[in-house]
Amino acid sequence: MYVFDFSTADGTDRDLLGGKGAGLATMTALGLPVPPGFTLSTEACRRYLVDGDVPADLWNEVRAARERLEAVTGRSLGANDGPPLLLSVRSGGKFSMPGMMDTVLNLGINEKVIGPLAEWADNEHFAWDAYRRFVQTYGKVVLRADGGRFENILTELRSTRGVDDDAALTADDLEQVTRRFQRIITDSGRKIPENPVDQLHSAIAAVFSSWTNRRAREYRRINQIDDNLGTACTVQMMVFGDLGDDSGTGVCFTRDPATGETGSYGDYLPNAQGEDVVAGIRNTLDLEDLAGRHPEHHAQLLDVMRTLEQHYSDMCDIEFTIERERLWILQTRVGKRTAQAAVQIAVDMADEGMIDRATALLRVEPTSLDVMLHPRIADGLDIEPLTVGLDASPGAASGVAVFSAGRAVEMSETGVDVVLVRWETNPDDIHGLAVAEGVLTSHGGKTSHAAVIARGMGKAAVTGAAEIDVQEAEGRFTVGIVSISEGDIITIDGSTGRVFVGELPLVDPDPSPELETLLEWADEVRRLGVRANADDGAGAAVARRWGAEGIGLARTEHMFLGHRLPIVRSIILNQDTRQALDDLVDIQTDDFTDLLEAMDGLPVIVRLLDPPLHEFLPDRISLLLERRNHPASSDTIELDRWIDAVTRLEETNPMMGLRGVRLGVIRPELYRAQVRAAMEATLRRLDAGGDPKIEIMIPLVSHESEFTHVLDIVNQEIEASAVEIDIPVGTMIEVPRAALQASALAVHADFFSFGTNDLTQMTYGISRDDAERAFLDQYVTEGVLPSNPFTHIDEVGVGRLVEIATRDGKVVRPDLEVGVCGEHGGDPKSIAFFHRVGLNYVSCSPPRVPTARLAAAQAALGKTFD
Ligand code: PEP
Ligand code: MG
Repeated sequence: MYVFDFSTADGTDRDLLGGKGAGLATMTALGLPVPPGFTLSTEACRRYLVDGDVPADLWNEVRAARERLEAVTGRSLGANDGPPLLLSVRSGGKFSMPGMMDTVLNLGINEKVIGPLAEWADNEHFAWDAYRRFVQTYGKVVLRADGGRFENILTELRSTRGVDDDAALTADDLEQVTRRFQRIITDSGRKIPENPVDQLHSAIAAVFSSWTNRRAREYRRINQIDDNLGTACTVQMMVFGDLGDDSGTGVCFTRDPATGETGSYGDYLPNAQGEDVVAGIRNTLDLEDLAGRHPEHHAQLLDVMRTLEQHYSDMCDIEFTIERERLWILQTRVGKRTAQAAVQIAVDMADEGMIDRATALLRVEPTSLDVMLHPRIADGLDIEPLTVGLDASPGAASGVAVFSAGRAVEMSETGVDVVLVRWETNPDDIHGLAVAEGVLTSHGGKTSHAAVIARGMGKAAVTGAAEIDVQEAEGRFTVGIVSISEGDIITIDGSTGRVFVGELPLVDPDPSPELETLLEWADEVRRLGVRANADDGAGAAVARRWGAEGIGLARTEHMFLGHRLPIVRSIILNQDTRQALDDLVDIQTDDFTDLLEAMDGLPVIVRLLDPPLHEFLPDRISLLLERRNHPASSDTIELDRWIDAVTRLEETNPMMGLRGVRLGVIRPELYRAQVRAAMEATLRRLDAGGDPKIEIMIPLVSHESEFTHVLDIVNQEIEASAVEIDIPVGTMIEVPRAALQASALAVHADFFSFGTNDLTQMTYGISRDDAERAFLDQYVTEGVLPSNPFTHIDEVGVGRLVEIATRDGKVVRPDLEVGVCGEHGGDPKSIAFFHRVGLNYVSCSPPRVPTARLAAAQAALGKTFD
C-alpha cells in the first residue's frame, strides 16, 4: 500500500509519510480544520526512483483515494458544473527541506473548468489567476519550462500597468498572461494535458523526480540528509486565500523562531496564496493586524497553535489560509529555529513542565552553539544605518557586497568575506548562501526563503529592506543617492535589521542566561570533563568564561612566533645560545604566568616544543633567490649561514622527522629552558597567592625509554627549582606504538592525552594536509570512507587504539588521568565515543567549550549517532 488518506494515516510515521504527510494526518486526527487529501508514501518515491516508473498498483490506489476525496468534499476533479475540485500536489520528505523540491498548485483546471471556477468564486480575476498559477507551476515543474520567462512576462506587465502586485492586474490581464504562458509551453513542443487525471499523474511523477534535482541534492549534502530517503507526495484539496479581501494566507510559529520568545509570531497576507508569503513578493502584515481584521479567526488560530504545541511538546510552524471567513490549516511541522531560539525554547519548555531537562538537553544541537558565539556589532558606535530591514536571522556580518550566488562562491574562494545581496533569494541560491557571511534582501518577510535558510545555517540575514533598490544585473544596489557596487564592504546586523556602509567592529556576544542555564544542566549530567586548548592568557580567559575546567593543551610553539622568532632562531643556529635561552625563559615565564592566572586553581597542561625546527626558519627557496641576487660580500656570509642551517634541518617528511620528544632528546636545552620557565611561572603565581596547577606534557612519544629519557631531564629541572608542589609529567599518545605500549608508559607517565590529529595521521599513514588536498574529499563523496577521519574519530581504527591505551593504562595506574586534545575533542560524535571508552576529559578550542559541555551531557544521556 502506497497511498494513505489524511484521515486514516498514522501521523507518527514520518519515515513513510514525510514530515508534511505526517503533520497533516496528525492535525486531522486532532480535529483541526485541515483540507482533506491523501499522501503517497516515500516508499512509492523510492520505487519510482529505482525502477524509473511508479509501482504497478499506484495509479489504482490514487484513483480510489481521489474518489474518496471527491465523496468527502462533494466536489469532483474536472467537474464543469458546481464547484470544481482543485488540488495541490506537494513534496515532503522526512526532514524538512524548505523550497528545495517542487509543488504544483490548482491542479485540475482546464478550459472546461475555468468557467465554473469563475462562477463558483464569483470572481473572474481569481479564476484566471488560479489558471495562471497552475500553468506556471505545472509548466515549470512538470514540463521543465524556463520559469524565468514566466516571471519576466509578469514583471513586464506589472510595469506596463504601473502596479507592484499581481492582485492589481485585471482579469483580462491575467487571461492574457495565462495564454502567453501556454504559448511558451506549446512553442517548446509540449502541452499541458486537459485531462485532470493525466495532470495529476504527471505532477506526482515530477514531485518524486524533484527529490534528485540539483538544489535538493546540494541541500542534503550541506545538511547531511540521506539521499536514499525519498520524498512523500501530498495531494490535497486547494483552499483559496486569494478570493478577495475577506481571504488571505499566512505562516505562524507558536514561539519566535529567531529569539525563542514565547508568544505567537507570524506573517499574514490578505488576498494571497501561500506561495506569495514565502516568496516574499509582497511585504506581509503581522498577527496583530490579523487580529484586527479577523478577530475570530485569530482567536481560533491561537487555539490551534496551543493544541499543536501541546501535542508535539515543541515549537510548531503552521501554514494557514482564510478562505472567505473560514480558517484552514494547511500544514504544520516542528519549526526550524536559530540556535538562540533552540536554547531559549528548550529551557522555557522545561521550566513550564512541558518537557523534562534531559529532553531539553537533547533538543539543542551542540554544534549550533558555536553560532551563539557569533559576533555582534560593538556597542557605543554612533553610526547611522544606511537602511533598516527585518531582523530575520541574528548575528552581524561584514563582507563585500555580491549580487549573485555564483559571484559569492567565486569571491569567497579567493578568501574574501561576502554578503549576498538579492531582491529576494530562491532555492537556486543555496550555494551562494552557504559561502556568504550573511544575506540581505529587499523583499520577503521573516519567513521568506532567505530568512529560513539563513537561520538554518546560522548566518546573519536582513530581509525586506524595502528602501533598497537592488539592480542585480548591474551589480549594485542603491538607497536614495547612495550606491553600493560589487566589492564595496557592507555590514549587516541580523539581530536588529540594520544595514551599514563599510566594515564595523564586531564583538563576541555574552552568553544568554538561558544558555548558561542549559549548560549548567549539562554539567549536572555529564561525566566527561571539558578543558580548552589555549596558548595565551586571553584565550584561556575566554575558555574559562565558557566553562572550561582547565587547559588540556597549551601549544608552546605558538608562543615562539612574531617578535620572539629571532630568539628561537638564535637558539637553533647556536648563536648566543646562552643569552637566547635566558631570553626564552623570560618570555615563556610571562606566557605561563598569564595562563596560570587565567586558570587559577585549574590544571594547565603545557606541552613542550613539538614541531620540527625548520618551521621557525625562513623558507629555503627565498634564501637561495636572495643569495643569487647578492654578489659575494660580507652580507652574504650571514645569508650563507642561514642557507646552511636550513639545508641541514630540512626534512623530507617533517611530520615524521625530528619533532616532539625527539627534540627533547637531541636538543635538551630547549626543553630544559621551557621547564625552567614553567617553574618560574609557578613560583610567581604562588608568591602572588595563586593556586597554580601546571602539568608538563611530552609530545609524540613512541618508546618507553624515549619518555623516561626526557622525563629525567624534566625532573632534574623541576628539582633544581624552588617549587615544592607536585608537578605531574605526562605523555601525549599520538603514535600507534605508544597506544600499544600504554602499560609500559603508564608506569612512568602521570597522565595520557590523546593527540588524535597525529594519531589519525600515523594510524592511517597519511599526512592530513596532503590527503585533504589530494583525495580525502573524494573518498568521502564516493563513500570510500564514511566521513573525514580528522572530523569524526575513526572509532574502529584510531578509536580502537584510544580504547586499548585507556584500558591498559588504567590497569597499571587506576587513577591515571586520560584526556583527548586533538580536534576531535570538540566534535559531538567523537565526544560520544570518548565518553563510552571511559576518558576523563576532552579538550577543545575555546569557542567549542559550550558545544563540548552539551555534547558530553548528551553522551551521558545516551544520544546515538546514525
Ligand atoms: C594532535 O596531534 O592531536 C595534537 C593535539 O597535537 P598537534 O595538533 O599540535 O600536532
Ligand atoms: Mg600532535
